[in-house]
Amino acid sequence: MKADDFLGKEVERLKKESLNWKLRELQSASRPHAKVDGRDVLMMCTNNYLGLSTHPKLIKAMTDATKEWGVGAGAVPVLSGNTTLQRKFEKKFAKFKGAEAALLCQTGFAVNSGLIPQLVGEGDIAISDQLNHGSIIDGVRLSKADKAVYRHKDVNELETVLKNSKEHKTKLIITDGVFSMDGDIAPLKEIVEVAEKYDALVYVDDCHGEGVLGQGKGIVSHFNLHGRVHVEGGSLGKAFGVIGGTIAGSKELVEFAYNKSRTWLLSTAHPPGVIAACIAAIDVIETEPQHVENLWKNTEYFKKQLDGMGFNTGESETPIIPIITGDPKSAQEFGKRLMDENIFVTPIVYPMVAKELSRLRTQMSALMTKEDLDRALEAIGRIGKELKIV
Ligand SMILES: *Cc1c(COP(=O)(O)O)cnc(C)c1O
Repeated sequence: MKADDFLGKEVERLKKESLNWKLRELQSASRPHAKVDGRDVLMMCTNNYLGLSTHPKLIKAMTDATKEWGVGAGAVPVLSGNTTLQRKFEKKFAKFKGAEAALLCQTGFAVNSGLIPQLVGEGDIAISDQLNHGSIIDGVRLSKADKAVYRHKDVNELETVLKNSKEHKTKLIITDGVFSMDGDIAPLKEIVEVAEKYDALVYVDDCHGEGVLGQGKGIVSHFNLHGRVHVEGGSLGKAFGVIGGTIAGSKELVEFAYNKSRTWLLSTAHPPGVIAACIAAIDVIETEPQHVENLWKNTEYFKKQLDGMGFNTGESETPIIPIITGDPKSAQEFGKRLMDENIFVTPIVYPMVAKELSRLRTQMSALMTKEDLDRALEAIGRIGKELKIV
């Protein structure tokens, strides 16, 4: 018996239960036409909604800044890594979001795991939507606050929890903006109204809404809730096409976060080139509205065609469009058959979604053409019929 015996055993168990990940190899830039495992595929499963990861302006900004600044920041931001570029990004991003202030963090995951445990502790309560992202769940687990979960998007149940939480000091409501598995949008206006009634904080994690909703400005712009949402978290690794996490809100919130968030305080700042690319991404979203427009045009067309063929696209309202197959086997088989025809869509099964809600999750890109979408629709329709999904 060796100390690390459990590693292999656990991996064996995962394999036996088909819960292990089989990683595919991306052999080109992440674009709708990409090379994966030696095949030229139509890529329908990335978060690169606007195609910005290969936008010439971002590439130029990143290479120019790298030549000038080198490849690394040299320290965590508070010690000596807070570059002019970081400050420029934060100012520009706050303005873009219509917020007082913003903070650039390492990733969207780091925002949640670093900030949530500082916002609530003993005597407080964290109240989460049932389908929140795992990084929120982990952030809440790291805090000593009481925890409550309300049914997905059920504002009545949320209100009941708030009613019963009168003795808690800080009441923090946390929700995804756009839910990553179903592509539906949080009822943020109703959440804000009930929060105001019970004097609770509202924290929205808009990783899939940044660059997508509200002309690219996210869910707060989409619902016009400026100044009424206390914390807006986001990712720069999705529609922004780069990497990073953001916090937007009041000056006090940002000052609180940079004094308290442990992931921000204890983890190295971004490479300057990354920050320069993120600055360029804001410019592109502001000056080239065609990317967001194309994304939504493709989304509307693709969803309408799928619905017309009788597929179950669930509650989708965004460029995340699931095709719910009902059982894990048919989702896996559907994904495999599409890959045989060089269409890459990842099947999503338990534990990411309930077994009976197994699905293919398609994601739209601004760079997809109508020919791309029609090719995918033809194959999905034909194989879907053969597998008796429709
Ligand atoms: C993707 C995602 C994250 C993680 O963001 P990264 O920048 O990739 O770390 C956090 N929360 C939600 C809701 C997400 O969809």
